[in-house]
Amino acid sequence: MSGKIYIVGAGPGAVDLLTLRAVSLLRTAQVVLHDDLVPQEILDFCPTQAQIVNVGKRCGQRGRSQEQINALMVWHARETQSQTIVRLKSGDPAVFGRLGEELDALRRAGVVFEIVPGITAASAAAASAKITLTDRRAASALVVVTAHNIRGEKLNLTMFEPVRSTYALYMPGPDYSRTVQGLVESGQDPATPCAVVSNAGRATEEVRYLTLHELASAKGIPAPAMLIVGEVARERLPVGAELLPAISSVARDPYRHDEFQAVQSSAD
Ligand code: SAH
Repeated sequence: MSGKIYIVGAGPGAVDLLTLRAVSLLRTAQVVLHDDLVPQEILDFCPTQAQIVNVGKRCGQRGRSQEQINALMVWHARETQSQTIVRLKSGDPAVFGRLGEELDALRRAGVVFEIVPGITAASAAAASAKITLTDRRAASALVVVTAHNIRGEKLNLTMFEPVRSTYALYMPGPDYSRTVQGLVESGQDPATPCAVVSNAGRATEEVRYLTLHELASAKGIPAPAMLIVGEVARERLPVGAELLPAISSVARDPYRHDEFQAVQSSAD
């Protein structure tokens, strides 16, 4: 009997940001083919007898080709006794993870598969930066972009009208000045606020709030990092400072029925 491939999102790298479904699949997997960005603590869920293979390819280092990864999945599913084969990919497996090629290979080979979503880096980075990617006062669109596309196209070909949009850029480094140049050529003002978030969701996370102009010369940004560009990334006042002037009678007693109604009708 052929095995089934589970394409599982590992989330941003923190064990407690995995889904329960991911954990239960890892616990029963006979084979796990994982990317570089997946930390050991997550692989520790796998049974000791499971075959765990790092198929990642770090920038600039030799690793397995995409074709080889596709072949490994198909071989494990068809030619071995393994029933549960997990293809573990960072974040959400379907966001900038070359999943398209892997699905094509599985479909061509007639291998049964299932996709288990994960928390993508854009969501994790926004949470780390304590912002909302789609604050309705500042953004009507969220554009998910890679700074490195397969065709080598400039950013201005992949972005649209840069007004009132938030851009979540994956793989923004290591040359941030080049990424900023691409954004500015696409119509972004160099004064646009941005947040660059390294290791989102992990113990080592780091958030910097800058303008695009400042980002161009920023040094020492650890990878992996996400870049969030747009008004939503403007650093907020510390919580205490923001709250002080806002203590109205509604804030003091927000459940009082008549006041709640009055607030609602004045907002209509
Ligand atoms: N499928 C993944 C993205 C793979 S592309 C997802 O959905 O998140 C790899 C890029 O994701 C990295 O170059 C970086 O830009 C981003 N990334 C992944 N994990 C991250 C993390 N913990 N913190 C910040 N960025 C991360």
